[in-house]
Amino acid sequence: MKHALYPGTFDPITNGHLDIIERAAEIFHRLSVVVARNDRKQPRIPLDERMELICASVAHCPNVDVVGLDGLLIDYARKAGIDYVVRGLRAVSDFEYELQLALMNRQMYDRIETIFLMPRQEYIFLSSNMVREIAALGGDFQRFVPGPAYERIRARLAPTNS
Ligand code: ADP
Repeated sequence: MKHALYPGTFDPITNGHLDIIERAAEIFHRLSVVVARNDRKQPRIPLDERMELICASVAHCPNVDVVGLDGLLIDYARKAGIDYVVRGLRAVSDFEYELQLALMNRQMYDRIETIFLMPRQEYIFLSSNMVREIAALGGDFQRFVPGPAYERIRARLAPTNS
């Protein structure tokens, strides 16, 4: 049984993330989306809510679950006996950072294998940061986030809520 982790901050989940989740769920028997607390990045949306937004967005994927993480991904993977990490690759600009991360993770846990997936072309320039910026300026970002999560993301990121 092949079980993979898809880690990220998901602040908030976008259609690019969902595209990667759906692809990985086809490849692996089970996929756990790992939501990093990541206080260092000062997320706009609290961890519990980021997790709820993902749960609502992946309700159609029976082999996908969502977990929160405070510590190091690789410690979690080792303890849980999970050997696969999925990451999304957008433009070339993601590549150097992702390569560094993957090789660093392998140095800490040599069984770990990082699998890179590419989203549909229309999501190549989509990021959580872009969604936050559009929302902060009162723009329409509905097409960039999963339908079941949209209203809650809008309420949370509304300009009056800053
Ligand atoms: P992190 O803080 O780990 O970068 P993110 O939530 O920004 O967390 O991203 C998690 C993973 O999803 C990363 O591998 C990132 O490259 C990937 N990702 C983010 N947005 C997209 C997108 N539009 N298409 C494909 N992959 C994406």
